[in-house]
Amino acid sequence: MSLRRPLIAGNWKMYKTCSEAVETARNLKDLIKDVTDVDIMIAPSFTSLSMVAGALAGSNIHLGAQTLSWHEDGAYTGEISPSMVVSTGCDHAIIGHSERRQYFHETDDTVNKRIVAAIKHDLVPVFCVGETETEREANITFSVLDKQVTTGLQDIALEDLSKLVVAYEPIWAIGTGKTATTEQAQEVHQFIRSLLEKAHGSGFAESIRIVYGGSVKPDNVAELMSMPDVDGGLVGGASLDAVSFSKIVLY
Ligand code: PEP
Repeated sequence: MSLRRPLIAGNWKMYKTCSEAVETARNLKDLIKDVTDVDIMIAPSFTSLSMVAGALAGSNIHLGAQTLSWHEDGAYTGEISPSMVVSTGCDHAIIGHSERRQYFHETDDTVNKRIVAAIKHDLVPVFCVGETETEREANITFSVLDKQVTTGLQDIALEDLSKLVVAYEPIWAIGTGKTATTEQAQEVHQFIRSLLEKAHGSGFAESIRIVYGGSVKPDNVAELMSMPDVDGGLVGGASLDAVSFSKIVLY
């Protein structure tokens, strides 16, 4: 079991209209109102952030964006700036999710810029990394992760990284029902922590939360959370339903 305070985060992706998002948020707020020992975050779509923020007022649930632009403002049609994200009530931002990398051409370099922008605006960056099935089968998982972590965090000073959360999300486990075994998750989390240690020392590495994402469900969360380097979960499908997400939070 990890000694760090757990973070359980829900990524709602492109699901739920405003009213559906508010209803789920209200139900969730009620179901987990007594939780004090876990940090909880949900990331609805941009269009429902403000309304969900209203529904969550006074609760123990943090709000996150699913990505953000690194530009402060300007002629970037369709983009959402960090100030816009903050103005809705968000204090977290998921950055570099594999679906953003795969379908919207985010790269390690633009992920780095987004992390810098999030930190500048005092948002907790939930920085996603992970290998594809082909990369795992080719035994290059560690080198893929080394590049993602190193480039994603390049030129960011240690003092700016205190709120960082890393999310290890093996792409082959996202939305597939395949979960990494506890041993696979622990091995990679330990490796990511060793990269953080190499960059900034053991005190820093030990303080940073590394959460696991990839088909986390109520019935596998406890086993994953029993690993010493698994500090929480980033949950997609099972976060869409308030009862199932609350069971994960209450693992
Ligand atoms: C995710 O979207 O980050 C994710 C892990 O999805 P799922 O839980 O559905 O695999």
